[in-house]
Amino acid sequence: MIWLVCAALAACAIGFTLYVRDRDIPPAPFENPELRHLERRRQILYDNLKDLQFEFHQGKLSDEDYQSLKSGFLGDLAGIMDAIERLETAPERPGKQRPAEGKVKVKAQSGHPASTPASTNVCPSCQAENPPDHQFCGKCGKGLAS
Ligand SMILES: [Zn+2]
Repeated sequence: MIWLVCAALAACAIGFTLYVRDRDIPPAPFENPELRHLERRRQILYDNLKDLQFEFHQGKLSDEDYQSLKSGFLGDLAGIMDAIERLETAPERPGKQRPAEGKVKVKAQSGHPASTPASTNVCPSCQAENPPDHQFCGKCGKGLAS
C-alpha cells in the first residue's frame, strides 16, 4: 500500500514539475513591465483558447461561434507574440527615445533624396566619406578639396 502512495506522490511531483516548467518556458528576465504584461496576456489567451476548445467539445458552442471566437483569440495572440518579439529583440530601446531621434534627423534636404548626404566630404582619391570639417581623408590621408 505504501508503495502505491509513494508512486502516486512521485507521479504528482513529476507532473507538477513538468507543468511548471512548461509554463515557465519563456525564461526572459522580466526587467520590462510591458513585456511582463504581454506575457500575462499571452497566458490568459492560451487559457481562453483551452477553455474554448473544452466548451466546444462539450457541445456548448456552435461550430460557427467556436471558429469566430478562436480566430479572434488567435489574432490577438499573434499581435501579442509580435509585440513580445519586438520587445525581446530590442529591449534596450525605450519608446520615449524614438520621437526625439526622429526630430533630430532632418528629413528631406531638398533636391534629390538619399544618395550622398550633403554633410559628408567625399575623398577625391579613394571616395571614402569624411566628415565635412576634415581637411584630410581619414582613409587614405589625401587632402580633401572643400
Ligand atoms: Zn581618401
